[in-house]
Amino acid sequence: MTLEPGSLGARADAAKRYANLIGGRPTPAGRHLPVANPATGEIVGHMPIGTADDLDAAVAAARAAFPAWSATPSETRKQACLAIAAALKDHAEELAHLLTLEQGKPLNGLGSRWEIGGAQAWTAATAALDIPVKVLQDDNQGRVELHRKAIGVVGSITPWNFPVLIACWHIVPAVRAGNTVVIKPSPHTPLATIRLVELINAVLPPGVVNIVAGDDALGAAMSAHPGIDKMVFTGSSATGRKIMGAAAQTLKRLTLELGGNDAGIVLPDVDPKQIAEGLFWGAFVNNGQTCAALKRLYVHDSIYDAVCAELVRVAATVSVGNGLDESSALGPIQNAMQFNRVRELVEDAKARGGRVLIGGTPPEGAPGHFYPVTLVADVDHGIRLVDEEQFGPALPIIRYSDVEAVIAKANDNANGLGGSIWSADTAKARALALRLDCGIAWVNKHGAIQPNAPFGGVKQSGIGVEFGEEGLFENTTIQTVIS
Ligand code: NAD
Repeated sequence: MTLEPGSLGARADAAKRYANLIGGRPTPAGRHLPVANPATGEIVGHMPIGTADDLDAAVAAARAAFPAWSATPSETRKQACLAIAAALKDHAEELAHLLTLEQGKPLNGLGSRWEIGGAQAWTAATAALDIPVKVLQDDNQGRVELHRKAIGVVGSITPWNFPVLIACWHIVPAVRAGNTVVIKPSPHTPLATIRLVELINAVLPPGVVNIVAGDDALGAAMSAHPGIDKMVFTGSSATGRKIMGAAAQTLKRLTLELGGNDAGIVLPDVDPKQIAEGLFWGAFVNNGQTCAALKRLYVHDSIYDAVCAELVRVAATVSVGNGLDESSALGPIQNAMQFNRVRELVEDAKARGGRVLIGGTPPEGAPGHFYPVTLVADVDHGIRLVDEEQFGPALPIIRYSDVEAVIAKANDNANGLGGSIWSADTAKARALALRLDCGIAWVNKHGAIQPNAPFGGVKQSGIGVEFGEEGLFENTTIQTVIS
């Protein structure tokens, strides 16, 4: 399919000025900024720039809504969350389209439709969870009950890679547990989240979920706000540290889902042909802009060349293009800053002996932040592409010969989000996976997540988990009652 410049922006309302939603009402902002489509540079709409007063109003609305919402019967809150899941389903195509326009990811494959479908699935799964009272003792000495109570107002700050899915991961467990929410989306991708919160507000009482879009300073103000009781943040480790510092003043509860530099280790007993697709998409899902993507690939010397060749074969079949083109499997990098970072890391790797197997040079003069799928061989620790999180479509492939040494290398990183072992012997692979310093480990796959499997990082990849009962419980405080 050929694309005429501008032809795919037709369904965006470029002139539309989006409003924040505070206390159930649209709250027009005094200032707006354009949001651009990373594939074309065309304007998708205008985001509101919330002020400190808007933030105060949103926190006040959330505080006002908290007593009634936290006292609402659990079953009613469950039904409300199921109604959010239904709204996501009813508006799936509209949300997916808006998401592709502002984020760049394709509608198809593991793109926008997948993200909205995931948001719906996670919302329904979270709705179904319960928070029972646990009886720790009940005998003639007395009765001890463990109750989990809502915390209060949860402040949520989201990144630009999976804006709608991550917003649901923050909002839904919070409200399911009886909290109220103020969310600030990434200034790179605020529009689909505003639409999501509009849909949520058609279901929940006013003030339970509020959105204030704005710049990074607004996020800093949220983290320090005395009216917010807990922060849930997904984004870079650098910002996570700032949030932790600001939150310390009021001892807010924290869930931090931060950066990763996941290692994948391929043992010599695999069939390179069989694992190539899995390795590729483990690394390149969402164009590599995925927290728990495979970011450092270690391959045993005996099959190194064969695995590289198979990865090149898969990479060559992947079409990169405008996300609205139904045939695109990957879109552009979401923003210029990230594009420049990926380019810089690849150039550095090339200058230091890295061998580019495919990609490595972005197209000249084309509109959009398109960067080709890039595989770089013959690199090792000490090169930025290996040591730092690239968060984009460039995978370093490292040769190893000793399993003990490669486990040590995989763990030699400040991050600890995910990791994977690839082997024909799954029992051996599971045992090695347990030796990886990471919050979630996979065997013969990478990056697969599911609503019943707690997800979170160790070391500098974060604090706490999301998903499942454990994730839901992070939205509660414990009260024990002894009688
Ligand atoms: P980022 O940290 O730059 O921004 C994330 C959010 O933080 C944005 O909404 C931004 O406005 C806000 N922010 C910026 N400065 C702030 C401050 N001082 N105080 C409070 N908020 C502030 O991250 P990003 O570039 O949007 O996302 C990419 C990063 O997110 C990568 O490192 C990636 O690994 C990580 N990530 C982690 C997970 C996970 O679950 N662990 C998931 C997705 C992304």
